[in-house]
Amino acid sequence: MSNLDFNIVKKDSFARAGIVKINNKELLTPTFMPVATKGSLKSTPHEMLDKTTVLLANTYHLYLRPGADLINELGGLHKFMNWNKLILTDSGGFQGWSLPTKKIQEGIEFKNIYDGSTFLMTPEVSIKTQNLLGSDIAMIFDYVVNIDAPIEKQEDAIKTTETWANIAKNIHANNNQSLFGIVQGGLVKELREKSALSMTKLEFDGYALGGLALGETRGERKEIVNYTTQFLPENRPRYVMGLGDTLGLIDLIEEGIDMFDCVWPARLARHGKLITGNTYLNIKNKQFANDPSPIYEGCPCFTCKNYSKAYLRHILRNEPTSAWLYLTVHNLIQTEIMLDDARKSILESDFANFRKRYV
Ligand SMILES: [Zn+2]
Repeated sequence: MSNLDFNIVKKDSFARAGIVKINNKELLTPTFMPVATKGSLKSTPHEMLDKTTVLLANTYHLYLRPGADLINELGGLHKFMNWNKLILTDSGGFQGWSLPTKKIQEGIEFKNIYDGSTFLMTPEVSIKTQNLLGSDIAMIFDYVVNIDAPIEKQEDAIKTTETWANIAKNIHANNNQSLFGIVQGGLVKELREKSALSMTKLEFDGYALGGLALGETRGERKEIVNYTTQFLPENRPRYVMGLGDTLGLIDLIEEGIDMFDCVWPARLARHGKLITGNTYLNIKNKQFANDPSPIYEGCPCFTCKNYSKAYLRHILRNEPTSAWLYLTVHNLIQTEIMLDDARKSILESDFANFRKRYV
């Protein structure tokens, strides 16, 4: 039985405002998941994200260090990282694409990034690891290829993902954990359709679209997502993996996507590029050297309430690890504010005007 309940509260054209309930915790959608790959946001204590309800952690990284058995022994990932709200674990499938690997029938051969040894990640290992971590939402182990890979490779990716999804579904035994399927198929409509149908046959708790935000244009992405969602059940959450820039998010909220994750806002912050509504400022610019105002007037984040641009510019130049914390908090809170605005506009049947304000 599924531990996940999803209600669409309001639709405005394709855009949806919903509530996901899992394990007595609530998640308002559309939502953005900050990325805590190794159980921690880079440079930022997750306690500082008081608006955040769900974090994403990574199976591949936690499997290697400190190991899922150890985390399980210490009470699971929530307790280990002292985060009582929701956690989604990605399966390690994306690392099969982003790291040097070799795909074989049973899974993906990885090189251990820490000691250079080789190990095999299979759908079984990925699901067992996520079970031990005890995340609220687990992802199937999928096979990701380049967005512009030739058609035979795209076909192999959806076939392999389907085979591994069957294995994942069969061995997933955790009533406190939802399991999401992943649709692959690059920019090829027939393959996305085929992959979506094979995933929905397995009746997952939610459905992700993988293999996107890998170099396609915004228009291409919007078109393939628009095409694919018609093959996904209306009453299950939809998640586009690895996307986090403002315009990209708005494009796909418009297409009925409910969940997103990305390292992008945090990475951007570490480079000094800060989100100010629908635009950015670069805190490194000389014009801010004596600017006593906050990054963004009216921003409720800890950083804007307490620090000036002049101070933040100074510490980014001279004490960068401290600056990363303040700047990351700002960008993540701004991303969440934008999603809150999107949700509010859907509830008020005003998404088109919201879109105009940002795009
Ligand atoms: Zn701020």
